[in-house]
Formats: sequence, structure tokens, C-alpha cells
Amino acid sequence: MTMISTNLQTVRNRIDAACLAAGRASGSVQLLAVSKTLGPETVAQAFAAGQTAFGENYIAEAVHKIQALAALPIEWHCIGPIQSNKTRLVAEHFAWAQSVDRFKIAQRLSEQRLTHLPPLNVCLQVNVDAGANKSGVTPDELQTLAHAVAALPNLKLRGLMCIPEPAPDFAAACAVFAKAQALLVALNRSGLSLDTLSMGMSADLEAAIHAGSTLVRVGTAIFGGRAPSPAGA
Ligand SMILES: *Cc1c(COP(=O)(O)O)cnc(C)c1O
Repeated sequence: MTMISTNLQTVRNRIDAACLAAGRASGSVQLLAVSKTLGPETVAQAFAAGQTAFGENYIAEAVHKIQALAALPIEWHCIGPIQSNKTRLVAEHFAWAQSVDRFKIAQRLSEQRLTHLPPLNVCLQVNVDAGANKSGVTPDELQTLAHAVAALPNLKLRGLMCIPEPAPDFAAACAVFAKAQALLVALNRSGLSLDTLSMGMSADLEAAIHAGSTLVRVGTAIFGGRAPSPAGA
């Protein structure tokens, strides 16, 4: 077995154990492998080990990778900041955009989605711990944004994504993730039907699963350390 396949198995075991501990069905949490800064050959290795969903932060870098791996049935998720001038690339190349936090971006993604593709799956990034200088819609503005985005024709609003600051311990991490879960429940009570709560990374996926995560985004625990971000990304 390669190191990547061993690591993937370890992460899948952690997810299963966390589901068991939380009294949740194993299989209720999807694993997204975060492959930012890694080359297409590394993604191909993880794919060969059974991983089919990959998350990317840097859009231009991701598009090269997506094109290089076009022969593989990979589900690509955009999880990094989306500027207006990058919406077309996201709309044309990705299955999911998890990091939408403004109506203007959602509107452009809907307008630019290619008509032969299924609707772009969207999560709204929410700033649950009010981290300074962080992207994400505030909890106060979420309800209005969610209903506006849900009405756009070529998008399918699936849920919420959050990236809280690292918490000092398990209980504190659970408390922050529980805020995101409560926001999702409130949106569903207000008439939406959202099924995705994207939260939890290498260091805190157990707490996220405890609090109701349905999709964990894991990079380092699968691929090891990363090279620095590409310049200009
Ligand atoms: C890099 C990144 C991850 C993965 O983080 P690890 O700590 O390497 O698991 C998850 N989500 C987002 C948005 C990221 O940028």
C-alpha cells in the first residue's frame, strides 16, 4: 500500500469511530480530500485508493489539475475564496462551490453555469466564531442570503461550510461547530431543505462529526505537509 492509501484508511477509520461515538450511522459523513498545492499525480494516487471527491482552494491551479485529470470521474469542490473574476472558472469546472458568502458571487455562478451541466451545488460559508478578517457571511445575514441564493436557477443550495479558528479543546470545538448545526436547522425550519454541513479538518474532524458534520475536508492527514501556497493565488 502507498502512504496515501494507508493515510486514507486511517482517516476513514477516524470518521467511522467518530460516527460510532456520536451515535451516528457510519456512512453519514463524506470525506473530501483537500488536494490544494499537490500535483495531479498525487490526486490520481488518492483516486486509485478509492477517493473520488477532492477540494481545491486556488482556482487557477485547480483548473489545470481538473483538465489534466479529466479522464477520471472526480467530483471537484471549490473550498477557497471566490473573487468575481474567477466565478466563470468555478461555474465551468467544479461540481460544488462551498465557499460562497456573497449574493453577487452566487448570482454570477448561476449566470455562468454551463447549461449542459447539472446545477452547481453550493454551500454558504458562515463565519460562526466571528473570527476577525475571516471570510464568511455573519449568522445575522445568513437567513436572507440563503433564501436569495436558493432562488437562483442554476445553483442548488446544499448547506453550510465553516472554518472556525482552532479551539483549545474538544468541548470548545464542539460548541463552535454546534452553532453551525443550529444555523442549518434554523434554515431548514424556515422552508429550505439543506442536507450538507461541511465542517471539520485534519485536526478537528471528531468534534465536527460530534456536532453534526456531514462532510469533512481533510488535507494534511491524507497527504502530509503541503508546499506553500502558490504566489498570486
Ligand atoms: C486546507 C484546507 C482544509 C484542509 O486542512 P487540513 O488541516 O490540511 O486537513 C480544509 N478546508 C479548507 C477550507 C482548507 O483551506
